[in-house]
Amino acid sequence: MHQLTLAEIARGLADKKFSSEELTKVLLARIAQLDPQLNSFISLTEDLALQQAKAADARRANGESGALLGAPIAHKDLFCTQGIRTSCGSKMLDNFKAPYDATVVAKLAAAGAVTLGKTNMDEFAMGSANESSYYGAVKNPWNLEHVPGGSSGGSAAAVAARLLPAATATDTGGSIRQPAAFTNLTGLKPTYGRVSRWGMIAYASSLDQGGPLARTAEDCAILLQGMAGFDPQDSTSIDEPVPDYSASLNGSLQGLRIGVPKEYFSAGLDPRIADLVMASVEELKKLGAVIKEISLPNMQHAIPAYYVIAPAEASSNLSRFDGVRFGHRCEDPKNLIDLYKRSRGEGFGPEVQRRIMVGAYALSAGYYDAYYLKAQKIRRLVKNDFMAAFNEVDIILGPTTPNPAWKLGAKSSDPVAAYLEDVYTITANLAGLPGLSMPAGFVDGLPVGVQLLAPYFQEGRLLNVAHQYQLNTDWHTRTPTGF
Ligand code: GLN
Repeated sequence: MHQLTLAEIARGLADKKFSSEELTKVLLARIAQLDPQLNSFISLTEDLALQQAKAADARRANGESGALLGAPIAHKDLFCTQGIRTSCGSKMLDNFKAPYDATVVAKLAAAGAVTLGKTNMDEFAMGSANESSYYGAVKNPWNLEHVPGGSSGGSAAAVAARLLPAATATDTGGSIRQPAAFTNLTGLKPTYGRVSRWGMIAYASSLDQGGPLARTAEDCAILLQGMAGFDPQDSTSIDEPVPDYSASLNGSLQGLRIGVPKEYFSAGLDPRIADLVMASVEELKKLGAVIKEISLPNMQHAIPAYYVIAPAEASSNLSRFDGVRFGHRCEDPKNLIDLYKRSRGEGFGPEVQRRIMVGAYALSAGYYDAYYLKAQKIRRLVKNDFMAAFNEVDIILGPTTPNPAWKLGAKSSDPVAAYLEDVYTITANLAGLPGLSMPAGFVDGLPVGVQLLAPYFQEGRLLNVAHQYQLNTDWHTRTPTGF
């Protein structure tokens, strides 16, 4: 039963092949048995899950239906869950029980989804390896000595190991797409403003966006449907109708113009990944797509701009965790300054402290123009590159990451080496565009992802291209040994 996708679960529940309660029990037992190897969960919510599963079964018995009614999922541990620890992977929030549900959590619960638990993540979503969590590193089910990617590594490892069919995640600079690539999943970062950020603990507010991680594009469509929509509680939420994403999965790719940026194939890209990317292009050509070389000339400036803007916003967002308003409080403070210093020093890990320092520096008087303002100008240039490219093509295709998942610890002493791995994903966040990563092969037994980018609000187009590709390839069906 644990092999079923969300789409298959919906059919099985509708056909009364099994109940949500039965399925939930099977998955909870599987998590108890296998997760100690992976560390993909921070908290399990068994009681809530069984209660939600029974309620979903009762709703079905009363004639209700719905793709998510009775479907087991988990939430990345930065989505607030009422009465349940919401840690953000940090000691700072180790004992924080959220007083309300995030909009995404509330919407999915209303659709009948069953919450199995809260997944592990990089502390405050900062990282690409899931090694900065206060609760310990997450392991990649494809090779337990390798990282699963970050910061949504817990959601990715759990779904890849078939502990559950799908999970929520967030992407500020790649944290849905990169772990999807590293664990052979399909992950979608929606257009900025498509999914509410209300109750989603902020890292960098102008970049953060929630989205689905699942095994197939079909399942991403189902989960996104439950997450997306206007939310008056989020001032950057966009009041734009939500299309039927599952209905968008049957479009022909005949004549679809796919742009492949020449800048993507630079020295940093593993040549074996380049070959797999080109193989995916050949596959899409067979389905009728036309390929065009394009250029994104400002791409080289994106990493430095992102690593000014994201820490700048983080330093501001994280100022509320001071031991008074929110978060861990030190023992026996001598005075107010001592309380602030020690509470923050004890509560935040080294990567978070580094980003706060970088961000506060970039925003300080005298440096603001030189760093923050300059970075914002680059951000506009990156967006302009995309706007020009989308005048010529319908989709942009390339690698999700320059390398496959690295070994645990391999980049922990060199933060910049890890930052460089974000080169293909962060541009979509800077521009606010939707992006999807889908499985496209293996290098040394480790999964490789191909990234698709589309114009604003064209999530349906991304899901359709990935779905057509998945109907004609079987990379996404491969299962890690032992799971
Ligand atoms: N790796 C990037 C960072 O550390 C992106 C993280 C994310 O998307 N949350 O900032």
